[in-house]
Amino acid sequence: MRALILSDIHANIDALDAVLAAAPRHDVVWNLGDVVGYGAAPQAVIERAREIGTMFVRGNHDRACAGLIDAEYFNPIAFRAVEWTRGQLDPASLQWLKQLPRGPILTNDDRVSCVHGSLVDEDEYLFSTWEAREQWTHARTQVTFFGHTHVQGGFAANAEGEWFPLKPVYTRDDAAESYDLDLRSGATYLINPGAVGQPRDRDWRAAFALYDDQAERVTFFRVPYDVRLAQMRIRRAGLPDMLAWRLRVGQ
Ligand code: ZN
Repeated sequence: MRALILSDIHANIDALDAVLAAAPRHDVVWNLGDVVGYGAAPQAVIERAREIGTMFVRGNHDRACAGLIDAEYFNPIAFRAVEWTRGQLDPASLQWLKQLPRGPILTNDDRVSCVHGSLVDEDEYLFSTWEAREQWTHARTQVTFFGHTHVQGGFAANAEGEWFPLKPVYTRDDAAESYDLDLRSGATYLINPGAVGQPRDRDWRAAFALYDDQAERVTFFRVPYDVRLAQMRIRRAGLPDMLAWRLRVGQ
């Protein structure tokens, strides 16, 4: 079985379509949340995500846009994007956002679970090996896919419980690239496919990953997309300019 892993699409239809065009053959799609928020095409992205999606975990922006949490604790730019997004969605899409399940979710592969933030807290950011180490006792599967930080890579622990950062190595910034990670038995992994629609690891290219259970491998991908079109949509929608600017710098 091969699973396409998507996270943090953030209403960026241009990035999502580039990812789907570049994605290798796969059997299922695991979506780690934040389908909407920030970007200017929430309705189109929800429709596309529902068409292709097999398994979903909800993100904090999905909950805010669905009205499940008070978005006032968001920063003012994110708050404005939430308010704008609510006005763009039809009732069926709002209802769909509302019913998205909370992680962790076990996938159809019993070695893998999926979360938005962390295994303990769906809103927690896993940025450091110290934070990853705290997850150790909560991991029920060899691999946990997570999102939320918008940083591709993650963490691995050896059998002794020592944690190490994982970071794909790339050489370009203007073409599609991939990076293979072979999974070792006895090791535990927390893996972030990166953000499809708003990367924050100083690489503007759309990020995603592919999990292959036969090969026991996770492949990270970066693909260029029409970022100027995505920026234009944001500016035309009257959303804060910072949301357009950050797409090209990847932060
Ligand atoms: Zn996000």
